[in-house]
Amino acid sequence: MPERKEFLEALRSELRERINRYTAHQHRDDGPLEADFAEQAIQRQNDEVVDSLDLEARSELKQVERALARIAEDEGDICEVCGEFINPERLKVLPQTTVCVGCADQRSS
Ligand SMILES: [Zn+2]
Repeated sequence: MPERKEFLEALRSELRERINRYTAHQHRDDGPLEADFAEQAIQRQNDEVVDSLDLEARSELKQVERALARIAEDEGDICEVCGEFINPERLKVLPQTTVCVGCADQRSS
């Protein structure tokens, strides 16, 4: 399924770009904290949002890289838990997954 690999590669670069932007924000490349107290409170709230988006993007990137690594090993459509084939419909909906629906259910419950 070459479209899946292309999709994941595009997603990977998008996530990397996003993480770079979050990192730039966290390092305040856009200037020091505003002096005004109310402004500071808003900025701090923004920081928390950016931090959680950053974490989310990083864990998504990890999953995408994992899926790409498995595709490179020719195991992209094999569940990494039980070794069965992953339903192609599932891969279409969730291209970065590396487990079958049964194992995903067990993991989350
Ligand atoms: Zn499985």
